[in-house]
Amino acid sequence: MRTITKLLVVVLFCLSTTFSNAQVRDTADVQYDRSGNISFVRVKAQSNQKMENAKALLALLLAGEHDDFKPVKEINDKFGMSHLKFQQYYKGIKVENSEYWVHGKNGKITKFNGHFRTIDIGSVQPQITEDAALSNALGFIDAEIYKWEDEGMQSFLREHSGDPTSSYYPEGELVITKNEMKEGKEEEMILAWKFLISSMVPNDEQVIFVDAGSGDIVRAYSLTCEIRLETGRNIEEVNTPSLAETMYSGNLSITSDSFAGGFRLREERDGVDIITLNLNNSDNIGTAADFSNTGTNWTSGNWAGINQDQQALDVHWGAEMVADYWQTVHQRNSIDDSGIRILSYVHYTPNFDGSPINNAFWQGGINARYMLYGDGDSGQPNPLTSLDICAHEFGHGINEFTANLTPGWHETGALNEGFSDIWAACIEDWATSNKATWIMGEEVFSGGFNGLRNLQNPKSTNTAEGQHPDTYQGDYWHAQEEPHFNSTVLSHWFYLLSQGGSGTNDNNDSYTVDGIGLEKAALIAYRMELIYLTSSSEYADARIAAINAAEDIYCENSPEVRAVTDAWYAVGVGGAFSGGIMNISGEDIVCSNTSFSLSNIPSGTNISWSVSPSNLVTSSSGSGATANLTPAASYSSGQATITYTVGNGTCETEIQKAIYVHAGSPDEGNATYSYNGSNQTANPYISVINNIVCDLLYPVTLDVPLLGSEISNVSMIYTSDPNITYWGSGGAESMSINFEFWEYGQEVIFRVSMQNDCGTSYQDYAFRSEDCYGTALNYKVYPNPASESINIELDQDLIKQSVSDKEKVNIKLFDPSGTELMSKTVNESRTTIDVSNLGNGFYYVHIIHKNGIIRKKLRIER
Ligand SMILES: [Zn+2]
Repeated sequence: MRTITKLLVVVLFCLSTTFSNAQVRDTADVQYDRSGNISFVRVKAQSNQKMENAKALLALLLAGEHDDFKPVKEINDKFGMSHLKFQQYYKGIKVENSEYWVHGKNGKITKFNGHFRTIDIGSVQPQITEDAALSNALGFIDAEIYKWEDEGMQSFLREHSGDPTSSYYPEGELVITKNEMKEGKEEEMILAWKFLISSMVPNDEQVIFVDAGSGDIVRAYSLTCEIRLETGRNIEEVNTPSLAETMYSGNLSITSDSFAGGFRLREERDGVDIITLNLNNSDNIGTAADFSNTGTNWTSGNWAGINQDQQALDVHWGAEMVADYWQTVHQRNSIDDSGIRILSYVHYTPNFDGSPINNAFWQGGINARYMLYGDGDSGQPNPLTSLDICAHEFGHGINEFTANLTPGWHETGALNEGFSDIWAACIEDWATSNKATWIMGEEVFSGGFNGLRNLQNPKSTNTAEGQHPDTYQGDYWHAQEEPHFNSTVLSHWFYLLSQGGSGTNDNNDSYTVDGIGLEKAALIAYRMELIYLTSSSEYADARIAAINAAEDIYCENSPEVRAVTDAWYAVGVGGAFSGGIMNISGEDIVCSNTSFSLSNIPSGTNISWSVSPSNLVTSSSGSGATANLTPAASYSSGQATITYTVGNGTCETEIQKAIYVHAGSPDEGNATYSYNGSNQTANPYISVINNIVCDLLYPVTLDVPLLGSEISNVSMIYTSDPNITYWGSGGAESMSINFEFWEYGQEVIFRVSMQNDCGTSYQDYAFRSEDCYGTALNYKVYPNPASESINIELDQDLIKQSVSDKEKVNIKLFDPSGTELMSKTVNESRTTIDVSNLGNGFYYVHIIHKNGIIRKKLRIER
């Protein structure tokens, strides 16, 4: 009692300073739902509210004198946080969809969220009996056959629930619910009888609320339930590795079981039974049969059922992959996290008209909890058994056991559908490498449609459902709130969060989202469902849930939290991220001792940092989150990354900054020389010796690797012959210079200058052409300039040497484009060549001898 009194004082203090006084709102974040009730509170860090007082805190903040909160779920997660879920009661009657989460760490409350209803009902005594209410509910549903009327179905339920007294016959529960038949904005909460009604024709599990005063139907929806685990199985089986030729995913390894000399699509996987059964074009699961095979090859020629039942292999493999994903990535043990068996029914056909159905289902509710797969309609679509559809239906099961977002035509239903599409994308990405991750059902449609929904581009025009909204209440938002349509605001948020993107949404808001990758996004999405959302959550709640989930995993002020927030802004829910983001300040270039520090560090977190690669710098810590880096003493240069790791034992994130390290001004590496396009082995006369060019036949290429330079330039700073030209290209990492000598005895010096952010340096390269082989190559070409003819005089030794080797000197004439104009073989010391038909300009004379080539520029001028 004393504790409570003390708490009251503290909370009342909070109420007066935090919740009602905007001036000090930075001590806590408070958000309100459509009804004006508190939907989220972040408790100020200094607060000392204990988790054991959670109920009293909720009562104080939310409840009137007739309200009560009862704990219904407790989760202690791997982040060291605890989460208590409370259900609202009013005068002892449960209030539907009014649930609150209280979150804490180290025994102290950190935040709470959910939906609470303000109720004013005088008497909670029903005016009509349960029987009368049920009669009205059945009249509303008007099914041909109910499941409790069919003995086969009843025995199925008794067998599979393990309870010999169980029955589909509905039992009424008095609850307080929203009157959804009431027009207008104002919410009316009334006393009602609630029934779960299982019908066989048509096959459905529906929740019906009957006004306990008037007997009117005030609310109805399909597929929802309370938690009950299905247990037990009395089938002997032996897992057997098998091969399946699937309809959509090729040949795959699956597991079947050996049974009575054959094999069935059943297995036990990580303690979970995965069973795929044949409904034989009916909707009576009491009559479902096994798919069977005489061997373990479920392939063409080996399995008699391949033509009729191939899609069952996709379903069985899909169930295996989906279960593996949840176990491996999220450590979730099947749909309910308690090993509930995974039951899939193939060839589902509703009885009402006997034709195949273009749909697949999660049949939720305490009396069901299995998946139903229709056979489609000859390509429009084909059987709805692809991996993403399996993952989507399984996702509805996950939802039923976590947030339990109520299905139906409202935002809550849209969130439910959106999460299923998110899991479909995640599991396609995780299990395969060749599927269209962001398109739902891309494999089951042919004939022009590309799937059902496009998460990347919801407004895509060629999906079977048509165009969907990418902005909350924007274009293509379904006014009556059909959930599949409006689901794409959530699934597109997830796409942007994981992949990033920029653009302008239907609110004319331009956005940029830095994607965090699909794996991180998936952890956030699962935590939203598991820890924050409730059965009445809407888009505004999803935003709060996502931000808080990201803060739990990746800390406040992290890039992940910013991406989550900005992605919601991109889809029109809430504002862009405006808080402080953790950021590394400091120069991008490290020339000398440089300091870096991390800003906007969340309180209570620990910081460490490192540099990779570590050999470029020497590093030391300054005070707090300061890192001091100095280029390593020996020459080093290159890209590096500073990584700060921020965490508090619960959350953890990494903040990175790319830097460039230069040890002062730049340097060239080991320059090399070569001849373009030639091979020194093939031509023994071609070489460069100590920058002496011995042969004139080919241009010289000088390659200069530039280490750590951003800008490079080449210039010729000396030439003995202005006819020597060079051409080349430079870049950040290397410089290539080409030039050619015309004659022996020429010299040239090139200067390569290099500049980076730390300074400028240069290197000179000198070359000289020289006859390395001892032949005196004396020659004359005259007159030059010429007009009518030229004389070429060659050294006698040159001719002699050539002739003695049975080779002659070859003289060629080229125009500036390299076209050969004349070729002549001589062994005389003097030759005259007629040039009277050449136009004015430059030409090239090549004197080709045994050891190489002499080039001479010739000018014709008249
Ligand atoms: Zn769905």
